[in-house]
Amino acid sequence: MEIKFDKVSFSYLAGTPLQVDALKEVSTTIESNKINALVGPSGSGKSTMIELINGLILPTKGIVHVGNHRLRNNIRIVNSNQLRFEIGVVFQNPEEQFFCNTVKKEIEFGMKYFGYKVDKIEERIESALKMVGLDNSFLNRNPFKLSGGEKRRVAIASVLAFNPEVIILDEPTNGLDITSKEMLIKLIKLLKTKYKKTIIVVSHDVDTLYKFVDNVIILSNGKILAEGNKFDVFSDVKYLTDNGVKVPRIVEFIHKVKEKTGKNLGKIDDVNDLIKEIYQNV
Ligand code: ADP
Ligand code: MG
Repeated sequence: MEIKFDKVSFSYLAGTPLQVDALKEVSTTIESNKINALVGPSGSGKSTMIELINGLILPTKGIVHVGNHRLRNNIRIVNSNQLRFEIGVVFQNPEEQFFCNTVKKEIEFGMKYFGYKVDKIEERIESALKMVGLDNSFLNRNPFKLSGGEKRRVAIASVLAFNPEVIILDEPTNGLDITSKEMLIKLIKLLKTKYKKTIIVVSHDVDTLYKFVDNVIILSNGKILAEGNKFDVFSDVKYLTDNGVKVPRIVEFIHKVKEKTGKNLGKIDDVNDLIKEIYQNV
């Protein structure tokens, strides 16, 4: 599902002396069936963009197009529940909000809460678990006793149970060890390739992001500093570093090699590919 921001501004406490202009005339397109990263320092407007996408808040100015929904100021969202089903948000450290004693009940709770048809619940839970790579033996396990990576996957399954077309993940790899991180990245890629989801990932960890995303939007102070294909976005290292944006280490390395030797190693997002390329060039 394509998402388009058309000159979108959002101000908190608009019209009061405490007004904060969190987004300023942002226009961008978030492509369907791609992994899109939203990066930027704290306070740059990432959460505000996400809340606009799932209809939690409405633009002060401009229009947010989410599939066929047009979200704008003073227009009541006719189908706000519909939107919640279509846009699944996995908040930061979601497992901290677990409170059931089995994985099954945990996933079920959200669905019942949103009034999902009861006859489909069983089927949905099992397919959501399968999507995150956990088998049915997890159904009766205690979510509090799972590993960090498994907990995160159960939390993602709770959102997938609604079968949303768009999945937004806020700092998904936060607090996970390297193995769980790798597994989660595989899962996110699978959600795109096999399940045709549109993914939006919010993260500070540009090194990890660079490995698996397609497109990047860099926010700074409520405006878009750079956007597009990740290779293009991170190609202008000087512009980004001058603007206080951390570039992925692999990009920095390739940039330094080019500066020192004039050799362009090309568009590489994987360390193994980088090593191969260096061997061939030496
Ligand atoms: P990020 O997610 O990138 O850290 P946010 O979208 O949360 O950024 O915040 C953007 C700006 O809006 C910041 O200046 C922040 O302080 C402000 N802001 C966020 N939420 C509120 C709120 N509920 N009331 C007032 N200001 C807010
Ligand atoms: Mg935030």
